[in-house]
Amino acid sequence: MVELFVPTHLLGDISKDEYKDIVNRSIGNVDFIVKEDFRGHNSGQYIKLKIADTIKYICLSRKIASESRNAFILQNFPSAYQHYLEEKNPKKTFEYYIRDFSTSHPPFAIFSYKLLLTGGIKILNLDKVKVSEKAILFDYTTPFNDYKQMRTYRLSLSKRNSSNNSTTFEENDDEISVYGKSYGANGRETTAICLALSRLVPAKNIKLYNVNETDKNHLADIDPANRYILENIGVELNDDRMDFESNDERVIAKRNTRLFHYNLLQKYKEKKCYLCGCDIEKVIQGAHIYSSTDILHSSVSEEEKTNQIVDADNGIWLCANHHLLFDYLLIYFKERYLYASDTLNKNQIEYIKNSITQGYFFNDEKIPKGENFLGFKINDFDFNSNMQQYLLKHTTRFSK
Ligand SMILES: [Zn+2]
Repeated sequence: MVELFVPTHLLGDISKDEYKDIVNRSIGNVDFIVKEDFRGHNSGQYIKLKIADTIKYICLSRKIASESRNAFILQNFPSAYQHYLEEKNPKKTFEYYIRDFSTSHPPFAIFSYKLLLTGGIKILNLDKVKVSEKAILFDYTTPFNDYKQMRTYRLSLSKRNSSNNSTTFEENDDEISVYGKSYGANGRETTAICLALSRLVPAKNIKLYNVNETDKNHLADIDPANRYILENIGVELNDDRMDFESNDERVIAKRNTRLFHYNLLQKYKEKKCYLCGCDIEKVIQGAHIYSSTDILHSSVSEEEKTNQIVDADNGIWLCANHHLLFDYLLIYFKERYLYASDTLNKNQIEYIKNSITQGYFFNDEKIPKGENFLGFKINDFDFNSNMQQYLLKHTTRFSK
């Protein structure tokens, strides 16, 4: 006989039809009995299904998505998953059951489903989901193919210049560096992303860098369930906190590569060379337009220096080769157009021209003339007056 163990607080909440549906989708059309599971307080939003010597943990989504629609799918996940990990019976599985079908499911919900699937979690009734029009491009029934696809999906969900930055990650020399909050709704997402990453890039170390909230009352402490899961799947927790608000004049400005990269990812939504499209992350660098050395030696306040050093408008992703050319001012921008230095000969300019494969020209646009123009223009979406100020500082670097 199949037994369903349901915590006291859920007993009256789940209908007979729901029980039937859960069992049917999990193991098939069989008889079952419901038993009360005394778990005390803090008992989690999941039920246990016992069949022979196997135990299934079935996490239930919230029943009705409230105003925090974006968060509701992962809401009950960490504590349920922790209990599943703690289960001593080695014959165990973890599944997920959706309870809210009041409206169609928006892009963020679809992202969360794909995240769970990528983490190896079966969703019992995913076929019942109606996808909102905005999310229609997302194939919600399959896991992500790779971490870049996962990251692009996630970053494309947050609006440009949104202050609520999302969890993101990049491949560095010997690790996948994850930058994210580790408590509240964002923390649940960070945990699910780490779980998915542990499946997508099993050979790599995953290291989590805590992103600090601007709210001083919420220092980046990790929720216990998140910590348990992260440690269990081998994610290394870095104690350094990435502070976004360092409005403290006593703090001396310094380079802050991780925060700079984090901001670049939020702005450009991916990590590949802006000029040639190379996406081998190991050789892609966050290039400062107005160099950090010059910033550190400038006369503005330490606070302003700190801001400029991590400002996404003061940077582009470049491969190592293009980064050097840019740093040596052998290539530079005039307005939004890219030019080669006069110090280069024809062959060298031709070489650089051939190395640039990205471009954002539209048919009706006037293309600048002259041999030194490299046929490249900064994307409309990326360009703004702030960036323009930095570009001016770049070109005047050696002319002082
Ligand atoms: Zn390049």
